[in-house]
Amino acid sequence: MITRVHNTPSWVRVWIVNHNIMSVPNQIGEDSSSQPQKPSGLNELKICGWKVTSCESHILKSKCDHEVECVDGSNLCSFCLYNQQLDLHHIPDMVFPDNKLSLLHEPSGFGIEFTALSALQMVDSGKRDVKIACAEEWKASRSDQPHIDHEAKPFDWTFTTDYKGTLFGGLEAESSHLHIDMEKLKRREQIMFYSDVTLFEDELHDNGTAICSVKIRVMPTGFFILLRFFLRVDNVLVRINDTRLYHEFGTAHIIREFTGRESKIEDLRVPTALLTDPNEINSLLPIKSSTFELLKLPSASSKPSPEVTTIVPNPGS
Ligand SMILES: [Zn+2]
Repeated sequence: MITRVHNTPSWVRVWIVNHNIMSVPNQIGEDSSSQPQKPSGLNELKICGWKVTSCESHILKSKCDHEVECVDGSNLCSFCLYNQQLDLHHIPDMVFPDNKLSLLHEPSGFGIEFTALSALQMVDSGKRDVKIACAEEWKASRSDQPHIDHEAKPFDWTFTTDYKGTLFGGLEAESSHLHIDMEKLKRREQIMFYSDVTLFEDELHDNGTAICSVKIRVMPTGFFILLRFFLRVDNVLVRINDTRLYHEFGTAHIIREFTGRESKIEDLRVPTALLTDPNEINSLLPIKSSTFELLKLPSASSKPSPEVTTIVPNPGS
């Protein structure tokens, strides 16, 4: 059970979390039309040596910004950059080229960021020799629809990505046995910063949904990030690729966990409504793959001051 408290400004939401960690219904579900409109722009928080920045901006335009299409590699408009950088048959209906979540550890210059371009660069273009079962199955089931090029090389129409964020400044990942302490994350803490940034979304020609978004919440004791790719191909399958990252202030590492879950819809004996809500369906999907990694910083981040880290006991636990 989650209680939602709207704060000022309105896009900053404080969540009092009892059970789930950022698994709030409709936060990244189908019903985005009913979500309050968040102002576009930049939001920033500096805490314990970290600079946390989230940016939300406009959708990718459908043509080049310039009168003569960009040719200069250093000064491309977003449209031309995406066309040049992505080897895809087409790009999702909605791409947010300037949306970004970035975390910079200022003393070291190490950091991690999340962008649509990098997420889409991990979508199979069909040029690699990888079998894309779902995309093929879906394409076959739409054989009556002429707009789908059935002769084209297999391209992943589902835009499935196992993107886990882009490391920069020297930050590297190594495999680890450390897991995120979810119990610790269930404690009631002040939310100092919250952001939910959509990277891209596609309706699969009205045959489902593919959405990739990243959320962060920063507490006095650390930050938690959930990057989620959610796919539902109607009557075919549901797939969720989650990357969770957790850093406790005063330590020298970020724990990163990736989990790929998937099920055919015929194997999920659940009401159809559940299939539109990744938070509800997530735990019902079998895990297909998982990795556990540590992102190591050259030095520990600053410890939070004691007066802001007082944990209020959760009355429900
Ligand atoms: Zn251009």
